Amino acid sequence: MTVKGKTAIITGSNSGIGLGIAEELARAGVNVVLNSFTDSEEDHALAARIAKETGVEARYIQADMSKGDQCRALIEKAGRCDILVNNAGIQHVAPIDEFPSDKWDAIIAINLTSAFHTTAAALPMMRKAGWGRVINIASAHGLTASPYKSAYVAAKHGIVGLTKVTALETAKEPITANAICPGYVLTPLVEAQIPDTMKKYDMGREEVIEKVMLERQPSKEFATTEQLGGTALFLCSDAAAQITGTTISVDGGWTAL
Ligand code: NAD
Repeated sequence: MTVKGKTAIITGSNSGIGLGIAEELARAGVNVVLNSFTDSEEDHALAARIAKETGVEARYIQADMSKGDQCRALIEKAGRCDILVNNAGIQHVAPIDEFPSDKWDAIIAINLTSAFHTTAAALPMMRKAGWGRVINIASAHGLTASPYKSAYVAAKHGIVGLTKVTALETAKEPITANAICPGYVLTPLVEAQIPDTMKKYDMGREEVIEKVMLERQPSKEFATTEQLGGTALFLCSDAAAQITGTTISVDGGWTAL
């Protein structure tokens, strides 16, 4: 079974890991649907660029992953979903007793609940097509914790649980569900954490990267969006047909510590 001609919907894919995964899948001949909550010319231009470079069909569909009805509408509007990549995510860093409730709610909604809605809408399409792949972008924080990231760690542990349930409910069908758990990847989400961390630890940028961010990543290197795209593509291959309900770490050894 080739992935060529399949359709992938990648949530939160106008930047970072989501965009990297969309580009890698498109290079393999997969038609891609990009998404974010914005609806700018740049968003649509990204899809046009991918279509031009790879020859696949690439569309951009605006939908806010913090809203359940919009999550489901994204899948319906796409009309087909062979590969669902639940990637949209945000971060906020604060101690539990100072953590703003609205930030907690937003992180749980975007990083976890959106995947419930998109999966619920996509599974019937996969069943009809007789093939499907659900790929949830969790994190090393889906398997371990760090202080000040209560909502993020809770959401990412939650999505690992949702992945397992999705796998069990589809176990007898040609559908798999897995979670990819990246360590640190230098994307806008991580860039945005650098200034606060510099302030918190009174360190410069390079010191924060080396001593704080990559402290727990034994390789001392960021993972790349291309590597995550390659991992997603592997999960879509025949070799991965019996891999379901599990996590794949792309974290330079973080979770081996
Ligand atoms: P990013 O900020 O570059 O990308 C996040 C994407 O989510 C963007 O496209 C953004 O537009 C989208 N998004 C945010 N809110 C949205 C909403 N309400 N509706 C729709 N889309 C929305 O960050 P990234 O680092 O590429 O993160 C992507 C995923 O990877 C996230 O789930 C993140 O938790 C996970 N992750 C990232 C790292 C890392 O080190 N960068 C590590 C582990 C896991």
